[in-house]
Amino acid sequence: MKISVIEGDITTLNVDAIVNAANVSLCGGGGVDGAIHRAAGPELLEHCRTLGGCETGLAKITKGYQLPARYIIHTVGPVWYGGMKNEPELLASCYRESIRLAIEYKLTSLAFPAISCGSYRFPTEQACKIAIREVKDALERESYNIDVYFVAFDKKVFRQLNQILKQ
Ligand code: ADP
Repeated sequence: MKISVIEGDITTLNVDAIVNAANVSLCGGGGVDGAIHRAAGPELLEHCRTLGGCETGLAKITKGYQLPARYIIHTVGPVWYGGMKNEPELLASCYRESIRLAIEYKLTSLAFPAISCGSYRFPTEQACKIAIREVKDALERESYNIDVYFVAFDKKVFRQLNQILKQ
């Protein structure tokens, strides 16, 4: 298992799968979701419309269509309401469910955005800690070998991910 932190646009990555921070409708939105739908092309939305949405904390997989990535794992992070609505556990579940699909599809490389750290307002430091802990734990538990990239779109997330990974 190799875990790396990179800064940039997740839609450009040549990996087996990228993870999308989607919403419950799976019908596209702003932020990274919008960027992924724009880059993957209209067939992605057509496919997503047939999936019946996705509950918070769960994940569904589609092809990558026009992306360099072969697959997209769509997971729905929690909206941050102050931390008393099970937000940390729901975010942890997003990472576990994404890893579960990556193993099921025998993927060898996977890239995550900072799920819930944009319009869903999850405190970024806590979110980054959950992300790294859950991914490490899940891969160790399953003894599964995969290259995981945490993709930061801004400097703050980039710094925090690197700091946590060093600890
Ligand atoms: P959420 O609704 O789950 O908060 P957002 O898309 O609003 O999702 O933000 C999640 C994170 O993704 C934020 O840190 C945001 O800066 C980042 N982000 C936005 N666009 C991209 C992109 N093209 N590649 C990687 N990360 C992105």
